[in-house]
This record gives sequence, structure tokens and C-alpha cells, in this order.
Amino acid sequence: MKLTNFIGNEKVIDRLSKLMESGRFPHALIIEGEEGIGKKTLAKDIACALVCRGNDKPCGECSQCKKAIGAIHPDISEYIPAGTANSFHVDTVRNIINDAYVQPNEADYKIYILANAHCMNQNAQNALLKILEEPPKYVVFILTTNSKNRQNVHYHSSSWLPGKSIHN
Ligand SMILES: [Zn+2]
Repeated sequence: MKLTNFIGNEKVIDRLSKLMESGRFPHALIIEGEEGIGKKTLAKDIACALVCRGNDKPCGECSQCKKAIGAIHPDISEYIPAGTANSFHVDTVRNIINDAYVQPNEADYKIYILANAHCMNQNAQNALLKILEEPPKYVVFILTTNSKNRQNVHYHSSSWLPGKSIHN
């Protein structure tokens, strides 16, 4: 996986690449870090790599990549709430979950980028946790959260589930 838009954090990219190549990419990934360090860019690049049909993913050239880059890929959805407390509503999460049970249109994966995931209240988190207990096999949730004490991007795999977190 070459994440061209994402400079630095080679260790993170290396780990993500290995997960992708192993075919056991986690159903939920949390990208954590300070505001403005490229968390959403990384999330979009990962989504692009997951749908890419080229060799060196994301190739940026295949029809899947072009749709992902143009933000018109039917299997990649992006949710960006206002960023204030509780702005990520449980109703939004419920809509996402309903959609997640519908098979992908054209890719092998169906990817949901959930920005500002720290703005979910307990109800919204619980709703999301429910689907993570038994997720449809093609679904990947990529959550981004702001964290003031993280200078670099970190990621956790399903870190809400006890004992399953991966730290770089
Ligand atoms: Zn491609």
C-alpha cells in the first residue's frame, strides 16, 4: 500500500499495509491525533486502497480509485458532524448501520469514514458497538478522533473492544 498523500508516520502505514495484505483488515479502525495532521486524508487513502483494483494500492488510476478520489464511490460513505459535543447523533449511527447491512455495490468492501467520532454520545457509541460485535464481513468503519496529546497519527483496531487494541 502506498499512501501518497500521507507523509511521515511510516510505522503506521507499514502496519496498515500488512493488515491489508493479510486480508484480515479490521472491521473498525480508529485514527487518533491532533487536529489538522491529516487524519481524514489517511482515512480516505485507506478507503481508496481497500477498493482499488490496481497492483500498488491505491494506484490512483483504476476506475475504483477515480471514484474514491472524486468522492463518488458508492461503497465509500463519509460522515463529518459539526465537531461539537454530541453532534454525532445516534440516528445517524442507526442510518449507517441499516445501510451497512446492504451488500457493497461494486467493491469488496463497504467503507464508512466517521469523522469526529469523539462527538458520539453514549447511545451512538453503543449502537455502533452492537454492529461491531457481529459485523457484515465486507464492512470497514474508519473513525477519526481528535486528541490533543497525540502529535502523530495513531490508530487502534477495534479499540473499543477490550483486548483487541493495536497501538503503534
Ligand atoms: Zn486503484
